[in-house]
Amino acid sequence: MTDHKECGRCNRKLKGAKSRERGFGPTCYKKNQEAAAKTEFERNQQRLFEEAQAG
Ligand SMILES: [Zn+2]
Repeated sequence: MTDHKECGRCNRKLKGAKSRERGFGPTCYKKNQEAAAKTEFERNQQRLFEEAQAG
């Protein structure tokens, strides 16, 4: 099992068991989720744009 001692985003010490498992503190984990969602959204936008261009 993975046991991270520090946050992969801000390098702070991780306290919670769940955080150590994830490798991110609660805040950074949330930010990562949001960033991933944003990337996914932008990818979809790009695809729609390309389809419209090919149209
Ligand atoms: Zn962090």
